[in-house]
Amino acid sequence: MTTSDVESTRRRSWAEPYRIKMVESITMTTREHREAAIADAGWNTFLLRAEDVYIDLLTDSGTNAMSDRQWGAMMMGDEAYAGSKSYYHLEAAMRDVYGYPELIPTHQGRGAEHILSQILIKPGDVVPGNMYFTTTRFHQERAGGTFVDVIIDEAHDPASLHPFKGNVDLKKFQSVIDEFGAERVPYISVETNVNLAGGQPVSMANLRATYDLCRQNGIYLMLDATRALENAWFIQQREAGYAAKSVREILLEICSLSDGATVSSKKDNLVNIGGFLALRDGELARKARGLLVAFEGLHTYGGMSGRDMEALAQGMREMVESDEHVHARVGQVEYLGNKLIDAEIPIVLPIGGHGVFLDARAILPHVAQEDLPAQALAAALYVDSGVRSMERGVVSAGRDPHTGENHLPKLELVRLTVPRRVYTQAHMDVVAESVIEVYEQRASIGGLRFTYEPDDLRFFLARFEPIG
Ligand SMILES: *Cc1c(COP(=O)(O)O)cnc(C)c1O
Repeated sequence: MTTSDVESTRRRSWAEPYRIKMVESITMTTREHREAAIADAGWNTFLLRAEDVYIDLLTDSGTNAMSDRQWGAMMMGDEAYAGSKSYYHLEAAMRDVYGYPELIPTHQGRGAEHILSQILIKPGDVVPGNMYFTTTRFHQERAGGTFVDVIIDEAHDPASLHPFKGNVDLKKFQSVIDEFGAERVPYISVETNVNLAGGQPVSMANLRATYDLCRQNGIYLMLDATRALENAWFIQQREAGYAAKSVREILLEICSLSDGATVSSKKDNLVNIGGFLALRDGELARKARGLLVAFEGLHTYGGMSGRDMEALAQGMREMVESDEHVHARVGQVEYLGNKLIDAEIPIVLPIGGHGVFLDARAILPHVAQEDLPAQALAAALYVDSGVRSMERGVVSAGRDPHTGENHLPKLELVRLTVPRRVYTQAHMDVVAESVIEVYEQRASIGGLRFTYEPDDLRFFLARFEPIG
């Protein structure tokens, strides 16, 4: 068949644009085993052992399945301390796929966030962003900045069907500039496919308007482009004028409306570890490399081995090689989400790019937010079926560093995150059945309280116990 033959055939379902060459066994445990395991883990799914998990939807971070071409590329890694060939392969791939001239390679996304925050934020500065992300805000605050949320109100409403819930509210952004003065706003951090809003995209029109406002005020626009590929897909599907463009073209256009980006390559880029900071300005890049050599590694490897950089260069090219990859990726998330919608389970709408977010507030209305409903729901789901998910609510939001009070986010969610190219639709069926079962038994789920609460990024290592 020629390409036009394929195009003239009416499309029915999407299917994965790959077949499986290697498998990894997973095993189902007993309910008794899981009850003991969650107690040992202090009711925190981060503290479970992976071998006690049946289907692991904790995160899509670093859980990607690599391709044969990526594994092949790893054998070509150049482990030279300085000037590695693999660095130059990665630099060429990043320039082709994202379009920025300057590459600062880091061990993962937070390494890039650390360096960006340190080179641009002074104590007393204000950093607006379209909803916070845990590690991003941590590094902004650690550099002496204050994060201000400027996302549109619809993002905080799990039931709103706004097609671009990740958009910046330009009025909120303007009032931050008016209140603090542009000189105290070094940059706005614009996250693509906003993770904590449920994987919700930013529109190109909104990004362009935000970038215009930045340039009028001498403020940088820095993207968190970790999930920019999935954002590009939603722009193609939902925004007027983009249906005929490839995700590759749309991704380049997104990046063209910014001064730089931090990226965790453990997501879109189809590798298990890695990340980078990309910049347009050579002087800023020089400053960033100054810190890179102190905190990560020499500028031609940062935090990665040569083989990691080869796998990353290949993964980056692969993700935009055809639109079918991201179509199947988001399609699988939508498959799971639609099963839950059909069963009338309250989830964040529209279905996001990387996972399905259960609305724990709506599912457990009898558990007060102080009693950590999303944390309790994630634990209950694990006990039911061995499916591991993650809390994205009051525990993740942490405390205000000045007042010590809990941040009480409007969204109290459990995230079922789908790793890329790892699970099949049959796994998604099992997950949906378990969520439905837990939903039916929701009246029996009670709240939790902290028995150990770390000062920073508490959700990772906190321990809990059931109340009463
Ligand atoms: C995962 C993630 C990060 C942090 O990246 P790490 O590689 O985990 O350090 C930052 N921003 C977003 C949107 C992410 O999803």
